[in-house]
Amino acid sequence: MSDTLIFWHRRDLRIADNIGLAAAREQSAKVIGVFCLDPNILERDDIAPARVTYMMGCLQELLQSYAEVGSELLILYQDPCQAIPALAEALKAKAVFWNLDVEPYSQERDRQVTETLKEKGIAFHNYWDQLLHSPGDIRTKSGAPYTVYTPFWKNWQDRPKAEPAAPLKHTEGLTHEEHAIVKDIGVVDLPTTRDLGYVWNKELLVAPGEKAARELLEQFCDRTINDYQEQRNFPGVDGTSKLSAALKFGAIGIRTVWQAATDAYSHSRSDESRKSIQTWQQELAWRSFYQHAMYFFPELAQEPYRDTFKDFPWDNDEMLFQAWCAGKTGYPIVDAAMRQLKETAWMHNRCRMIVASFLTKDLLINWQWGEKYFMQTLYDGDLSANSGGWQWSASCGMDPKPLRIFNPASQAQKFDPEGEYIRQWLPELSSLDTEYLVTGKIPRSDRDACGYPAPIVDHNKRQQEFKQRYQQQKGHEG
Ligand SMILES: Cc1cc2nc3c(=O)[nH]c(=O)nc-3n(C[C@H](O)[C@H](O)[C@H](O)COP(=O)(O)OP(=O)(O)OC[C@H]3O[C@@H](n4cnc5c(N)ncnc54)[C@H](O)[C@@H]3O)c2cc1C
Repeated sequence: MSDTLIFWHRRDLRIADNIGLAAAREQSAKVIGVFCLDPNILERDDIAPARVTYMMGCLQELLQSYAEVGSELLILYQDPCQAIPALAEALKAKAVFWNLDVEPYSQERDRQVTETLKEKGIAFHNYWDQLLHSPGDIRTKSGAPYTVYTPFWKNWQDRPKAEPAAPLKHTEGLTHEEHAIVKDIGVVDLPTTRDLGYVWNKELLVAPGEKAARELLEQFCDRTINDYQEQRNFPGVDGTSKLSAALKFGAIGIRTVWQAATDAYSHSRSDESRKSIQTWQQELAWRSFYQHAMYFFPELAQEPYRDTFKDFPWDNDEMLFQAWCAGKTGYPIVDAAMRQLKETAWMHNRCRMIVASFLTKDLLINWQWGEKYFMQTLYDGDLSANSGGWQWSASCGMDPKPLRIFNPASQAQKFDPEGEYIRQWLPELSSLDTEYLVTGKIPRSDRDACGYPAPIVDHNKRQQEFKQRYQQQKGHEG
């Protein structure tokens, strides 16, 4: 009889190209999957219903995938610190396998699980799976972690990348007796998203699961990737991969993604297309950069990278914040983006930068309010990318040229010149002249007729105010 091994899924909801899972299968013909619905996470106040819906869809498919290879995915709805060791003990498992994560909560959780497994004399094995290079591998010449993206990218891109790991194929499942044992220790049927207290009634931007993620990647690498350099900046164009949620939950392996991009590169027929593919690879490197940063500077989960910005004198006006959330600031490009977020649980990257700049530099509201609102709404909400993006936008993060202020009108003129995106998300303005939409200078009579608010702040005055406060704060830096 084969040894029982447990593979604990967390942010790797797939059976293909999964390093830890492949390693477990290499060591035994009997691998049982487990996923723990963690109340410590599900009861937090920054959880987006759409994100839970996506995750539950991935789990639904993963249950099926395990069944197809002859084993099972067990679902627990308990604190993993107790539940994982208890399961391993009950099944007399030889070892527990999992893939590592950079987030501070995950690291502490894993430390506790590891301790308990050690006490029980059960082996465990960990792997870096969600990154192409583990945090320790990419360091400056002096051995320090990178705090600037460009040198990180140069180091990162030059290194050979691993091939996708072997998919899980045939494996043995639980015996009859073991089924009874796991029921006794609280293994449950997969609940619905609603059972967990979350409701998302709209369609998800992208279908959940491994199969859908693979199809999306294929389609993207067949066509859109070749024009990414140009198209990625236009929010009204479908010019990006939409793979962010799949990458966050590991519905697709990063090595598979990298291989698809390098294959597209080797088949590309023009310099423009090769440049586009490399630009997309740089975005994957941004994802890694922020994950490495979170690993080495776990305080980024709570605080800005630049110390002096901890006590920046924000106004934090609650009414202005509500107007921003509701997409009622009177700045059409900002409002269109906030409505896109509300409707789809996703927002185009260009618009994430515009609305984050607007919240911090025009409304003078703490970036952490925006960061939390994004986590409460985004279906791809991810601690490292979100905190990195917000800190970059608020001028308090890892950025050698930190003071950037986006002018909403120039951004709209450049990236939504025909006002298509604005019209899509602000249908009440759809009949107005494009010039009004992109400049935001809408005559009062038109505004009144459309029921659209006047600008809630004056961009020029507010950016001056921000710059003044920024310079003062910067003066406190050592
Ligand atoms: C204020 C702000 C908040 C953000 N919050 C998140 C977040 O919570 N989760 C998230 O995944 N991304 C976040 N981003 C990064 C980026 O906006 C999204 O990854 C991107 O819009 C997702 O769309 P896509 O999959 O089509 O991206 P593509 O353009 O196709 O990029 C491919 C992949 O690269 C990664 N990526 C791209 N840009 C970035 C970036 N700037 N930083 C880190 N990774 C990147 C993502 O995994 C993405 O799926 C944020 C950016 C900003 C400015």
